[in-house]
Amino acid sequence: MGAAGLEVLILEKDTLPGRSVVSCPLLLSSGMQLLDEIGIEESIYAPDNTRFAGVALEMSEYFRTFVEIPDVYGRHFLYGIDRQVLDEALWKNLDRFSNVTQLENFSVRELQKNEEGRVNGVIGMFKGGESQAFSANCVIGADGRHSIVARKANAVVTEEVTQYNTAVYYAYWEGVEPYKALEKEWVQIHSGCNGFSAVVIPASKGLTGVLAQCRHDYFDAPAGVDEWYHSTLQSFPRVLGRLKNARQVTALSGMKNVGNLFRQASGKGWALAGDAYHQKDSYDAQGIYDALLGAKILASQLTDWKEGKKSWDMAMESYNSEVHDALHPMFMSTLDRLKREMFSSPSPKMANGLLRWVLTNKKYRERFGLLATRSIPPKNWASPAVMISAILSGAVSDIRRKRNQEEWWKLPAL
Ligand SMILES: Cc1cc2nc3c(=O)[nH]c(=O)nc-3n(C[C@H](O)[C@H](O)[C@H](O)COP(=O)(O)OP(=O)(O)OC[C@H]3O[C@@H](n4cnc5c(N)ncnc54)[C@H](O)[C@@H]3O)c2cc1C
Repeated sequence: MGAAGLEVLILEKDTLPGRSVVSCPLLLSSGMQLLDEIGIEESIYAPDNTRFAGVALEMSEYFRTFVEIPDVYGRHFLYGIDRQVLDEALWKNLDRFSNVTQLENFSVRELQKNEEGRVNGVIGMFKGGESQAFSANCVIGADGRHSIVARKANAVVTEEVTQYNTAVYYAYWEGVEPYKALEKEWVQIHSGCNGFSAVVIPASKGLTGVLAQCRHDYFDAPAGVDEWYHSTLQSFPRVLGRLKNARQVTALSGMKNVGNLFRQASGKGWALAGDAYHQKDSYDAQGIYDALLGAKILASQLTDWKEGKKSWDMAMESYNSEVHDALHPMFMSTLDRLKREMFSSPSPKMANGLLRWVLTNKKYRERFGLLATRSIPPKNWASPAVMISAILSGAVSDIRRKRNQEEWWKLPAL
């Protein structure tokens, strides 16, 4: 919107830099490409070049597989990033636009409405207690999962799936051993195949995010979340081994119940973007991409409206349908993956057979890399043909495997 010449006021309740949003992210090439579009260079949000070939997925002690990031958008890697660094880069980038004004330490508390009920501004408070009102033709709630704009506008939840909610907590650690295999370095995802998992994401400044996650209905922390976090990590020797010489340097962050939902995207004089509009589990690392993509779609529709090319209703109708079509299929795919990998506990026979044949299959892994980077449509990304061929070739290679033949998917001895 800044580039399109619109007058924009951005209100942020915290101070930048230094504030922290609950997030411990991986950034995929799809998200990087959207950051390129808004003029933010890679060296700014990933200053320590924390690049990885992809993800090493360990299925308990059964087997591991590697999902490489395919060469799309000119990049074949992902980054572990520090949210504070990314947010500061986004914030500073706005300095380029004289028509964009930023105000920190201002918390929005209420929406202002005209006599017809159309939102035409906000009322809020600076840290320190001074309150102020701002008027606007449109108020955008890009204020995260607990969006005050969504609440005050009575945005309807249009779709919610509660069955696959998870609890996730993380802290940053210093001195975590790198995960090296096949002459590359990887982000580690360790699934316990029991409703619990851990993810290890090296980020900037020598720090590594270590996450523990579980099905919401398995979350039980009578002695507090710190105890829960450490005992969950204790149950994963392959993660714990990397922490032998490491030290936890931040307090725990996270949430007990990560929601999966869509809200109504807009109403009279208001619109929602990012997590305020759509929340989903962090399992597939899609939140930042979705937030950037949704904001891009919204900016284009608002520009058309402000330039008189569309009425408000027409612009918002287009925003609603475009953003839903762009995000919903991936949402379904993430739910599906949660169901398979977090909410089912395969028997040893199933894990060593069907599951391994599929997850280690080259074509399946390539398709998953393309899916995660949003380079193929999520619907039917693993078609019956891909699955059947993965199962057949897995079973046949097991039968034909000679003694002493390399089994690259075997986990190294502990
Ligand atoms: C544990 C965890 C791990 C994750 N991992 C990944 C990952 O690997 N990859 C990925 O892409 N995504 C990941 N995500 C998701 C990602 O963090 C979110 O999807 C993304 O942050 C959404 O961005 P947003 O701008 O919509 O909201 P937020 O990042 O929450 O930003 C909202 C902003 O609004 C401000 N604000 C809130 N209320 C007010 C108010 N009343 N007045 C003024 N300002 C206000 C906040 O201070 C904040 O700056 C993860 C999330 C979690 C919880």
